[in-house]
Amino acid sequence: VSLPRGRPARRRRLVRAAFVSLLARPLPRTALARCLRPLEARRDEAGVLSFPFVRRRRARRLQILVYHRVNDERDAYWPATPVRDFRAHMEHLASHCAVLPLDAAVTLLAAGELPDNAVCVTFDDGYRDTYLHAWPILARLSLPATVFLATSPLDTGQRLWHDALFSAFRQTEARALDGFGRPAMHLPLRTLDERLAAQERVRAFLWSVGFDERRAWLERLRQALGVDGAAPGARTMLSWDEVRRMQDTGIACGAHTVTHPVLAHMPPDRAAAEIAGSKRALERALGARVQAFAYPGGKPGDFSVETVRLVREAGFSCAVTTLFGSNPPGQDRYSLRRVALADLDASTFALRLDYYRFSA
Ligand SMILES: [Zn+2]
Repeated sequence: VSLPRGRPARRRRLVRAAFVSLLARPLPRTALARCLRPLEARRDEAGVLSFPFVRRRRARRLQILVYHRVNDERDAYWPATPVRDFRAHMEHLASHCAVLPLDAAVTLLAAGELPDNAVCVTFDDGYRDTYLHAWPILARLSLPATVFLATSPLDTGQRLWHDALFSAFRQTEARALDGFGRPAMHLPLRTLDERLAAQERVRAFLWSVGFDERRAWLERLRQALGVDGAAPGARTMLSWDEVRRMQDTGIACGAHTVTHPVLAHMPPDRAAAEIAGSKRALERALGARVQAFAYPGGKPGDFSVETVRLVREAGFSCAVTTLFGSNPPGQDRYSLRRVALADLDASTFALRLDYYRFSA
């Protein structure tokens, strides 16, 4: 195939047009082909086949990536992004995307002035490996990011409840968990697969009960599994000093409540205290305004219309969910979608990022 000589932008357009029309032709009866056919007939000012609708849609969307843990521990109970993969993800973003601070990106999105391929990087919960492994990579590539912190571990040094849960399943030598939960579950724990399945069932149950009840059930779980509540090994959550050091190099902090509860399950006054309390604690400790909020869990049942109102009233300018997808212009800034690609190797990451910008 010989390509016509011309300006690079024109050549790129021709290659893209050729690719899309190839995609359309061999599949005359499929829905994809039917969708592409009207687009195929469109030509731009220069008479070249182009797909302005697709191009514009892709360019104007904001993708917000979500990570939790970045380390090489290969922990099956709380999987993390391996450091090598995280480095490859960030190197891809640095060379192919416009990586923006979240607050700036949300402002540009609302104004319809987002640059092409705009991406934000976010971390949830406040794990120490954000500081140990992710931050050096972000700093080397000069990429901004936002870390959403639950403030109770920063103040007390204690783990979040889901970490206590994962730790119990990691440590236990019990062969089964009998009569736990409501209705009572009988879960074998002989193999790793059985333990992971049991952990997921118990996590879903604990997520569904209220805050105080969850604490009681966690204690019962520890007794049933024969493990104590002490956090084993090195500290896993960030300290205030580590957060301040990251903040000095362009890593912003967002709030993620105090104790990581399910906000939709709480009475409004307690939810308000969790939301505003985390903002106050962060602003006092860091001396900077905290603009962004992340709903714990982040799925539709985890936050409600009432929760959104409380977040708005607490003075946040935007909030992120874990609803999957990218954000078109006009997206409600208090229910921003995110894309979880944390478990993908480098090449799959690049493909999916591009694909989801187009499709999700
Ligand atoms: Zn979280």
